[in-house]
Amino acid sequence: MEIDSEKWRQTLIEGAFALGLTVTANQARTMGEHALELLQWNRVTNLTSITDPVNVALKHYVDVLAAAPWIGDRAQILDAGTGGGFPGIPLAILRPDLSVTLVDSVRKKVTFLKHAIRILGLSGIDAIHGRLEDLCLLPQYGGKFDRVVCRAFSSLEDFANLTLPFLSPGGCLLAMKGPQADHAHETANQKDDGSIILGGTSFSMRIHRYRLPFLDARRSLVVLTPLAKG
Ligand code: SAH
Repeated sequence: MEIDSEKWRQTLIEGAFALGLTVTANQARTMGEHALELLQWNRVTNLTSITDPVNVALKHYVDVLAAAPWIGDRAQILDAGTGGGFPGIPLAILRPDLSVTLVDSVRKKVTFLKHAIRILGLSGIDAIHGRLEDLCLLPQYGGKFDRVVCRAFSSLEDFANLTLPFLSPGGCLLAMKGPQADHAHETANQKDDGSIILGGTSFSMRIHRYRLPFLDARRSLVVLTPLAKG
């Protein structure tokens, strides 16, 4: 199977459907264009270790689309440590109502992202080069996002510390955890009421577990909502 072939797009559409998500033929085509660019640039810039077409469809696109139900209409979202654009680019393709800001500290990756956004003709999405710890101090980013999402980025503690400053009141953090990241140790200090203290801040924590369709691969989505200081 080749990336962006009819069969590849069908795999992506059926995989997403198994998770309860509807990807249109046009959206699958745009995701295919992103995947082709990603693998092309990957020859010179390290963007992904996943290159097998079926795995690209399922482990990149279907996997990250699983976050969509946790993101409300017209939300402003920040993708922290986006790499080749995951989860931000597939989410922006699936949900044109969202306003998406991709951030990565590696300039070459951001050059790729800007190129991909232009080639794919996406709107409502921007790619920013910088470190989260610096960007959160800028007034256009600090406190401005309804959701901060990340995948394969860091420990929950580091994610919470680095991204809490970006969150607007009422917002929450979404961490997408990979297969090997058994985060039991990270959530060990969760209290009976579901709350957890990370970096001195108290969050309510919910873990949504799912499996990638057609693969026996477990994933989890950790939703962290800061609790009002009482
Ligand atoms: N989310 C992508 C990439 C994960 S790798 C995916 O799931 O495929 C983590 C990415 O975070 C890398 O691209 C790295 O350059 C970026 N990164 C690490 N620390 C960062 C920081 N402090 N600020 C911004 N980006 C960072």
